[in-house]
Amino acid sequence: MKMQIKTTISRPADGVMGKTGAWRDFRPELDSSKCIKCLLCWIFCPDGCIKRADDDSVSIDYVYCKGCGICANECPKQAITMKREGMGE
Ligand code: SF4
Ligand code: SF4
Repeated sequence: MKMQIKTTISRPADGVMGKTGAWRDFRPELDSSKCIKCLLCWIFCPDGCIKRADDDSVSIDYVYCKGCGICANECPKQAITMKREGMGE
């Protein structure tokens, strides 16, 4: 069943000013095996960086993600964890 949501969602700005991958300190990492497709991360990301596929699976747009951690905080299954950039695990 497709969840129908009507809300206002911000979109990342076009151009180099909207691209945050170069200065982000933390990055969200998604463990798809824990994801229940509740879409809370997609709803709450302030920059529209959670991408939603037709089957409601989600992925993260690292070009525009600013590493705020809101998606990780909202995820009820701890499927998203924040990792320091360049530190691997
Ligand atoms: S860390 Fe922030 S900007 Fe990046 S995907 Fe999560 S909510 Fe969006
Ligand atoms: S909030 Fe967590 S469980 Fe829900 S869609 Fe996002 S990653 Fe999956």
